[in-house]
Amino acid sequence: MEPATIESLLSLASTYLKQEKNIKLIEDAYNLAKQQHEGQFRMSGEPYINHPLAVAYMLTEIHAGPSTIAAALLHDVVEDTDISLDYIEKYFGSDVAKIVDGVTKISKLKYMTKEKVLEKSHQKILVAMAKDVRVILVKLYDRLHNMRTLEFQTPEKQKRIAQETLDLYAPLAHRLGMYRLKAELEDLSFKYTNPEEYIRVLNLIKQQKAARDDDIVKMIERLKEILNTNGFKNFDIKGRVKNIYSVCKKMNTKNKEFNEIYDLLALRIIVPTIEDCYHALGLVHGEWTPIPLRFKDYIATPKPNLYQSLHTTVVGLNGKIFEIQIRTYDMDAIAEMGIAAH
Ligand code: MN
Repeated sequence: MEPATIESLLSLASTYLKQEKNIKLIEDAYNLAKQQHEGQFRMSGEPYINHPLAVAYMLTEIHAGPSTIAAALLHDVVEDTDISLDYIEKYFGSDVAKIVDGVTKISKLKYMTKEKVLEKSHQKILVAMAKDVRVILVKLYDRLHNMRTLEFQTPEKQKRIAQETLDLYAPLAHRLGMYRLKAELEDLSFKYTNPEEYIRVLNLIKQQKAARDDDIVKMIERLKEILNTNGFKNFDIKGRVKNIYSVCKKMNTKNKEFNEIYDLLALRIIVPTIEDCYHALGLVHGEWTPIPLRFKDYIATPKPNLYQSLHTTVVGLNGKIFEIQIRTYDMDAIAEMGIAAH
């Protein structure tokens, strides 16, 4: 992956931030961060500024606001340099200062094990911090970038950070409905907390990949035919593979072998309206036999994190089991990015 640059960040930001003062805020934040981190390096040997830049870039990809992006650029400045919070407030405003302060405070929290996280006091801290969801967003993407570059840390630090990510940050991403982020955090962590198991399952998934891709392609073709002949327009069908960590968790909790996990194949149908969702569901059930008790209507009853979708599992082509999700484009944006999509 090419490291993000300030030019690429600004050009991406200007696609949705139309006011000049917002772009200026981001540019100023970058200039201060670059100056302050000058001469500092990441464990990878890269200039330190590449880290806040990467975090800010990922937040721009999910269309975060200007204060959040500026705070992401400055998120390690108070902790690692001579710049004070007052200085940031004076030149970047109280919003940016508040976010930087929140992120700095989380970084200072001692490592918490799963048991401790569950304790009331820690819960309270998390809830207080979560009052400003922008703090959590910066912290989650900060953690994601640190996980992506974890190979450069010592083995002890790798294990500790990976475990903390599994115990605290992945569940936090889940609670915010940020499933894609959660899956990546889990897989990156799992590689370090349980390397043998990670490699074993990764290889099993790879071995079956060709056959599975073939099954998915055939299923998608048939589904397209069905939707087209029933007058559907502007729909989208995606095949997907479950993340390594969730496959392992299933093997362990259900005490099953890899080839006994039956819903490795998954499809998503995205349609314009809610009415289309139920119509498509009817067509799917008309074509393939649904497995009893596997149907869930999260459109009528959304999850607490606002996730909405219809879930069903059917016996598809060649007797293969498919998990199928059906949702609208709006629901899909929320499911992929969670609260950030709002
Ligand atoms: Mn950081």
